[in-house]
Amino acid sequence: MKYCLACGSECADNANFCMECGGQKFGTHEEYAKAHMPFYDEWLTDFMDDSDALDRADEFFEAEDYAHAKLLYQKIAPNYGLACARLGYMYEKGLGMEIDYPRALAYYERGAQLGEEAECALRLGVMHEEGLGVGVNYKTAFQYYEAALRLGESLGEEDEFARFKLGCFYFNGYGVAQDRDKGIAMLRQAASAGYGPALDMLKKFGLTD
Ligand SMILES: [Zn+2]
Repeated sequence: MKYCLACGSECADNANFCMECGGQKFGTHEEYAKAHMPFYDEWLTDFMDDSDALDRADEFFEAEDYAHAKLLYQKIAPNYGLACARLGYMYEKGLGMEIDYPRALAYYERGAQLGEEAECALRLGVMHEEGLGVGVNYKTAFQYYEAALRLGESLGEEDEFARFKLGCFYFNGYGVAQDRDKGIAMLRQAASAGYGPALDMLKKFGLTD
């Protein structure tokens, strides 16, 4: 089945012209929708099933088409932690929308409940460390970074950013009893895994082997 790009009628694969309007250009249903903005936005939210919507939203996100990414992430956010994590990030950074820290926090918390714990915990750590939409709280930030690393490790997706942050927090005694040796060990581990900022930090303090 193919679709007339002029009127959207379904046409047989071997049709030479549309029986409805005589049009001779054909494509997929999505291509028809695309040719008829703003019908395309409606098409994306009404016709696409949820798992396709997640993939497509990621494609829009990668292509920096944040308006369409947002549309699709919002459609599936009630059931997909990853969509919540992405929406949280878009609100945190102001990608395709105004920065909105309370919304970012709410999406990260919801995303964590829906199984995207590691990524959401990491961002919640950053927001509590930097005081974005919430008071600066190193202890809470430390706990989130610790959770992000632990959860990431259990998934085999160790996050060197979380390890780097924890190394710094131990080194400085932020939100945890100061333990310079432990901090240095974590920074070295992150650096040897190729995380540049950890190496920079070690160099700055003359702590490279
Ligand atoms: Zn037609």
